[in-house]
Amino acid sequence: MKLCNICHKISATDQDHLDCVQKRSIEAEAEDFKNSIPEKLNLSKDSQELDVGVKAILEHLSKSKDLDE
Ligand SMILES: [Zn+2]
Repeated sequence: MKLCNICHKISATDQDHLDCVQKRSIEAEAEDFKNSIPEKLNLSKDSQELDVGVKAILEHLSKSKDLDE
């Protein structure tokens, strides 16, 4: 008699239920995907902040250029 490690119900075979193993691997992939989204958001947020910084520098440069003239 063997208990499935995933659903903890009796398994007919000596292994975890195939369905449970597949379901768990899909959930693990979904979890990985979910965890990767904040990283992507942070990356795009960083690049946006970079863009803002570049714009600020460009504006500063064009303003100081205006002052020179
Ligand atoms: Zn199971």
